[in-house]
Amino acid sequence: MISRRRLLQSFCALPSLCAWPAVGQTRAGLDIEQLKSGYKQRLKKILATGTLPYIDIESSCNPGRVDIRDIAKDLDRLNIGLMALSSDLGRNQFDKRIRYDDFPQRLMAEYADRFIPVGNGGQPPFLTEAADEFLEAQEAAARQKAILMFGEYELRHYPSPRQVKRGDTDRDVEVIIDGPTGQRLFSMSEKTGLAFQIHYEIEDRFLPPLEKMLAQYPKARVIWCHVAQVRFSERASQYSAAYVDGLIRRFPNLYFDTAFGDASSIYPVSGQRHSRIWSDNGDIKPEWRDLIAAHPGRFLSALDLGQDRLHRIAEYDQKHRHFLSLLPESIRHEVGYRNAWKLLFNEEFA
Ligand SMILES: [Zn+2]
Repeated sequence: MISRRRLLQSFCALPSLCAWPAVGQTRAGLDIEQLKSGYKQRLKKILATGTLPYIDIESSCNPGRVDIRDIAKDLDRLNIGLMALSSDLGRNQFDKRIRYDDFPQRLMAEYADRFIPVGNGGQPPFLTEAADEFLEAQEAAARQKAILMFGEYELRHYPSPRQVKRGDTDRDVEVIIDGPTGQRLFSMSEKTGLAFQIHYEIEDRFLPPLEKMLAQYPKARVIWCHVAQVRFSERASQYSAAYVDGLIRRFPNLYFDTAFGDASSIYPVSGQRHSRIWSDNGDIKPEWRDLIAAHPGRFLSALDLGQDRLHRIAEYDQKHRHFLSLLPESIRHEVGYRNAWKLLFNEEFA
């Protein structure tokens, strides 16, 4: 009979699935209790100083260029509790048939009390040209307990403001949410119990298929990134705080992250201030504040840093803390770290 170890080794000999060592050899599976204890100690230490230690649930990097030690220092300096840092793979890795990158293990080996291990970012060409292999490899990592969450999947993604400035169009992406790839993604979350993030631009025509998927996969844990970030208001007449309220009431496993531009941030293609959460005087609009207050468990802190802006972490931190400061004290702690804790570990932070 073939041993479990041999089985894993032969499985991981498939280059399309594993670019990381067989779990049986390296015990890559996380020791969750140990991890939790390190996280908790860190969060409590920051809390004791009177500062809010938020958990950034959505940032990413280029695993070949990132300096983990630098970011770890920044997290300490800025009293950021934890960062869910995923790695975005490029064409180079794609061509080498890598479908899972072991960046989460690198993070855990060096700074297990500061980072949350996350699956790789669901971007082109991986999600557009090799979706099955990519999702299979991410799911394998989840099953082997190498990650606590899946990365951000770009299902509908307009070029970011920085990409527009650079003339990049390779991230003008559309993956049909209720097509085979979307089905596989939602199903993977149900099967593994792990949350995943979607980048899904807000347009009227995208809302019915999203609702359909949420109804079809009620146990899928979905974080819809960038709440209230509308790039073209004329395409999103149905989206409002009341609409989000309806979604929250219907779908108990739907969450939103709060990575969005500040009150003056403009999406260059439409010329519009794309974060609709802000009023003209720079405060949170009452309907959005009321929404968060009515469902404080559904919103999560996030910075949305990427490799091209990791060096601006202090500025992003300051803007995010400003947003949190506009929320009532108790809600601040929920959005800041308690909700992320519950989503990751299925228990209250205590
Ligand atoms: Zn995004």
